Amino acid sequence: MTEIILSPHSGFCFGVKLALEKAEEAIGARKGKRIYTCGPLIHNGNVTDELKEKGIEIIDSPDEAEKGSVIIVRSHGEPESFYGLAAEKELEIVDATCPFVFRIHMLVKEAWASGMQIVITGDKDHPEVIGINGWCGNSAFVISSKEEAAEIKSSKKLFVVAQTTITENLFEEVVRELSSKNLEIEVENTICSATSERQAGCLLTAKNSDAMVIIGGKSSSNTAKLYEIAKKHCKNVYFVENIDDLPLKEIQKYNRIGVAAGASTPENAIKEVISNMSDNITENKELSMDDLMEDIEKSLRLPRGGEMVTGKVHQVTDKEIIVNLGCKKDGIIPLEEIKLEGDQKLTDLYSEGDEIQAKVLKTDDGDGSILLSKKKMEAGEHWEQINDALENKTFIDVEVLRQVNGGVIAAYKEVQGFIPLSQLSDRFIEDSSEFVGQTLTVRVSRVDQRRGKAVFSRKAFLNEERQKLVEEIWESVNVDDIVEGTVMRFTDYGAFVDIGGIDGLLHISEISWGKLKHPKEVLEIGQKIHVKVLSMNNEKGKISLGLKQTQPEPWSIINDKYNEGDIVKGKVVQIKEYGCFVELEPGLDGLVHISEVSHRRVGNINEELSQGQEVEAKILEIDKERKRISLSIKETTEPPVFEEEDKKEAAPEEDTEKKPEGEIESEATPETEVEAAPEEAVEETEVAAAPEEAVEETEVEAAPEEAVEEAEVEAAPEEAVEEAEVEAAPEEPAEEAVPEAVEEETEEQA
Ligand code: SF4
Repeated sequence: MTEIILSPHSGFCFGVKLALEKAEEAIGARKGKRIYTCGPLIHNGNVTDELKEKGIEIIDSPDEAEKGSVIIVRSHGEPESFYGLAAEKELEIVDATCPFVFRIHMLVKEAWASGMQIVITGDKDHPEVIGINGWCGNSAFVISSKEEAAEIKSSKKLFVVAQTTITENLFEEVVRELSSKNLEIEVENTICSATSERQAGCLLTAKNSDAMVIIGGKSSSNTAKLYEIAKKHCKNVYFVENIDDLPLKEIQKYNRIGVAAGASTPENAIKEVISNMSDNITENKELSMDDLMEDIEKSLRLPRGGEMVTGKVHQVTDKEIIVNLGCKKDGIIPLEEIKLEGDQKLTDLYSEGDEIQAKVLKTDDGDGSILLSKKKMEAGEHWEQINDALENKTFIDVEVLRQVNGGVIAAYKEVQGFIPLSQLSDRFIEDSSEFVGQTLTVRVSRVDQRRGKAVFSRKAFLNEERQKLVEEIWESVNVDDIVEGTVMRFTDYGAFVDIGGIDGLLHISEISWGKLKHPKEVLEIGQKIHVKVLSMNNEKGKISLGLKQTQPEPWSIINDKYNEGDIVKGKVVQIKEYGCFVELEPGLDGLVHISEVSHRRVGNINEELSQGQEVEAKILEIDKERKRISLSIKETTEPPVFEEEDKKEAAPEEDTEKKPEGEIESEATPETEVEAAPEEAVEETEVAAAPEEAVEETEVEAAPEEAVEEAEVEAAPEEAVEEAEVEAAPEEPAEEAVPEAVEEETEEQA
């Protein structure tokens, strides 16, 4: 099967394309004016014929042009004098000088102005060389071989440039020769890369082909160079301007036929030659005409900017990767357009022949190659992934790069986005520096790919995670469960406890069986505790917790720990006129009536006891039903010893005093104890037990009306008072309201 190989970089170069585009523009905007070029616009008969048909006339000098007409400067450029002549004739100039050639003009003009001797390596009759020479007053030495270089003599410093289409080989020889002479020399290699690449491609193709077909104008210098190169490396070379020149029958015998075209060879000429060859040669062969034409199209077409391309690595250096894209130009991926990790080098990652994908940044990097970027291609993929994440509401991981005003910049691979401070966390963030260097999972909030902007939110992710957790907890936790939690924060009314992702409220009244003023009295932030789930409000997402419920209620186990007659220790937690309350343990207070404080008569209890004081007391009575404990401090000490007479005299008074107190004591329980000694009870005692005077005195000292009223107000809620009143006296007979022991004692004394 015969194979047809199109050499890379075949066909129009950048400069020629530009010139043709400008010519077409000039034709379109001529407005009746005549249009000229000095010499053919490009060295291709077919193209110049076409242009002629469109009205472009070829002249040798602006002198020949009609005044006020249009003159196109072709890609080869013109001498400086040309512009003066054109101005004299009032010609409108369309300057299509190739930018690479224009650069040589400027270099030469500057070097000549600085006193250097210009040396042009090239063909002295080539229009490009004539043009260059015209920018140094036609004073240049024009040489085309190392032999001519050897003959150069100059007292001035040499400034050496090259015609854009000569071979690198020739230029190197000339420069070597000039350098070997004892001359001061400055060299500027101005060979166009489009030319050198085309020549290199041609050489490679020629080496690997049985026959070479060079397509282009016979007057084209660069096509002629290709012919020369091909001939050096291939025995069978055909130089054709169009299909008519091609001996189709003759070339049928070759298995591999290479095709190369000069910079001024139009694409349709290349296609025409190849398609005719394939018609004849590949007849009855496996390759279809469509396939072949597709290959040709592909090889001739240049990718567009922004396009993703796939090619084969042609060469890798530390600074760039040259990629064969299978079209007229090679692609170049500079080092900065490839992401490397750490000390990685390009040669560590890529080798010749590897397939590689990249994005086209420019169809011409200024040196005739296609500028490619792997980073941008990857960024394109990453933008797609970000867009997907936005659309599908999925999360992505980003790395926080740096702090900026109002937030941080975070990167998703090659794409950078912004995370506002308010979206960095589900808590208040004052300083975002702690996030720099961290990898965060975020939701994509906004994307504007055209402007290269993306906004991320970590808060959205955290909220969603929290919601999931809440749902899981709601499913797994039930009322009455005991769960572990961590105390997170305090308020005046309780503490919030994290029970594995959600915070439940531990109300202050649910922390202890005792009374607390603030939760921090018994809890610390960060403390691990076990709490009982008291209630769950699914709608509001609220959970109420209890800590005291994980401990037995003190009254439920009172008999396990306390018995009447026990001496116990406690802390004075409340002092009243009629006595004090002593806390035996949280939630378990007992009353020490004022008469039980000391064996002495106590007028003001504050003189005997103080709040917070640790005391020892004897349990006089435990009323489990009414949850009341009566205590006595004086019973923990020996009574004082009195003289016999004193005792006799003192006895009635003491006994009388003791009686009403005893009545109160018998009812004495926390908070309601005093209320348990209402007026009626006192009256009953009066009648049953005491002489008028004594009772009067007792009433005043032990439970005056005002004191009882005050105690009611201070110590207990209204209902409790009512309850105490009802329970303590009216319904029961008077005798029952007085504890037996006290009654007996009182009667005896009376
Ligand atoms: S070969 Fe190079 S210098 Fe010459 S016209 Fe083409 S691009 Fe310009």
